[in-house]
Amino acid sequence: MTRWHAAYAWLDGRTGPDPDVLIEVTDGRFTTIDVGVPAPPDATRLAGLVLPGLANTHSHAFHRALRGRTHTGGGTFWTWRERMYDVATRLDPDSYLALARATYAEMALAGITCVGEFHYLHHAPDGRPYADPNAMGAALVEAAAQAGVRLTLLDTCYLTATVDGKPLAGPQLRFGDGDAAGWAARVDAFRPAGDHARLGAAIHSVRAVPAAQLGDVAGWAAAHDAPLHAHLSEQPAENEACLAYHGTTPTGLLAGAGALGPRTTAVHATHITRADLTTLGGSGTGVCLCPTTERDLADGIGPARAIADAGSPLSLGSDSHAVIDPFEEARAVELDERLRTRRRGHFGAGELLRAAGPAGHRALGWTDAGRIAVGARADLVAVRLDSVRTAGVEPVGALFAATAADVDLVLVDGAVVVRDGRHVRVDVPAELARSVANSYGEDVA
Ligand SMILES: [Zn+2]
Repeated sequence: MTRWHAAYAWLDGRTGPDPDVLIEVTDGRFTTIDVGVPAPPDATRLAGLVLPGLANTHSHAFHRALRGRTHTGGGTFWTWRERMYDVATRLDPDSYLALARATYAEMALAGITCVGEFHYLHHAPDGRPYADPNAMGAALVEAAAQAGVRLTLLDTCYLTATVDGKPLAGPQLRFGDGDAAGWAARVDAFRPAGDHARLGAAIHSVRAVPAAQLGDVAGWAAAHDAPLHAHLSEQPAENEACLAYHGTTPTGLLAGAGALGPRTTAVHATHITRADLTTLGGSGTGVCLCPTTERDLADGIGPARAIADAGSPLSLGSDSHAVIDPFEEARAVELDERLRTRRRGHFGAGELLRAAGPAGHRALGWTDAGRIAVGARADLVAVRLDSVRTAGVEPVGALFAATAADVDLVLVDGAVVVRDGRHVRVDVPAELARSVANSYGEDVA
C-alpha cells in the first residue's frame, strides 16, 4: 500500500478541489480517500493540485512527426494531408515503435494516462500485409507499455478513398484490408500483449468505408462490447460528397447503419446540422473534440455547447499532436465558444475536467478510470501551482492557467511514470528528435 497526501485534490463528482486529501493505493487501485486530514509521516506529499488521470481520446501517433514542419505554409486540410501521407509512407514497425513510444511518453508528461489510438497504418507501404498482419498495431501496444500509459487500439477500417467508393491508391494502400470482412478477420487474430491495452474499432470516415459495410464494423464492436469511433463531419467537403452520393449527412448515414449509440464516439462533429445534433445526442453517442488540431487545420469551431446539451458526452483528443496539452485542449472548448458567441461562461471547470478525464476514459472503454474515487484505477496527475504560469491562481481556476509543462507527477495504475516533471524511463526530447528525424530519413547526430 502506498499513501499520498495532496494539498488539493479534485475528487470524483466534485465541482472543485478539496484541501488536504489523504489517498491510499493498493494493487493499483484507490482504497482510501479522506478529505481534510493532515499528512501522516509515511505519506508522499503532493504539492499543487492533484487531478484524475487524463485521457487523450483521439490520437494518430505518427502525426507527431508533422509538428513544426507543416505550419509555415498556407493551404487547407487537404494539402496538409499530402504531407501527412509522406510520413505515413516511411514508417515500419520498428520506426513506428520508436516514434509512438516517444509520443506517448510526451503524453504522459502532459498528464495523459490513457490514449485512444485511431490506427490505420496497417500494412507495408505497397499494401501487402507484414508477416504478422498486426505488426504495426503490436508496435503501438508495445510503445504504450514502454511509455507507461494505457492504450485503446481503435483498429480502423479504411477501405476506399472517396464517398463514392474510389479504390485506395498510393500512400493509402497500406491502410486497406480489402473489405470489412478482411478487416474483421485481421482484428480478430490480434491479441494485444499486456493488461494496459484493449481493442476497439473505428470507421475512418464515411469516405473510407462503403455504406453497405458500415454495419459490419459496428456489428464487430457490438459483438465485442468494444468502443467504436469514427471521424465525423470534420470538413464541409465530406458532408457535401455524402449528401450528393447518399442523400443524407454522415451522421444520418452512420445512424442508418446502426453505428451510433453509447459505445460510439464521433470525432470532431465540427460541421453538423441541428438534426445531426439531435441524432447524436438522442442516441447517447459521445463526441470527441480536438480543438488544437481543429484550429491548426483550419477546420472550424464545432457547436460544443449544443452538442453537450443535446445529450452527447464530450471528450478530448490531441489528434494531430500539433500540441499535446490536455489543459489547452480543455479550456479551448470554453474559449472557442466565447469567440463564436462573444459571451463568456459556457462550460464550468468541472465540466471541462469531466471531458478530459472520466468521459474520455469511458469513450475508450476504461470505465473504472479517470476518477479519484475508491475502487477506481489509481491514476493521479499532480499539477504545480508555483510555476510562472500558475503562481497565485485559485486551485479551481488551474485548468485555465496551467499547461502540460506544469505537470509534476503522474501515477498510472499506481505506478509513478512521471516524477519532478520528468519521465522515469524515457528521455522524451531526445527520443522525439531522433524518431521524428528518422521518419523523414534525416541523419541525427
Ligand atoms: Zn483524427
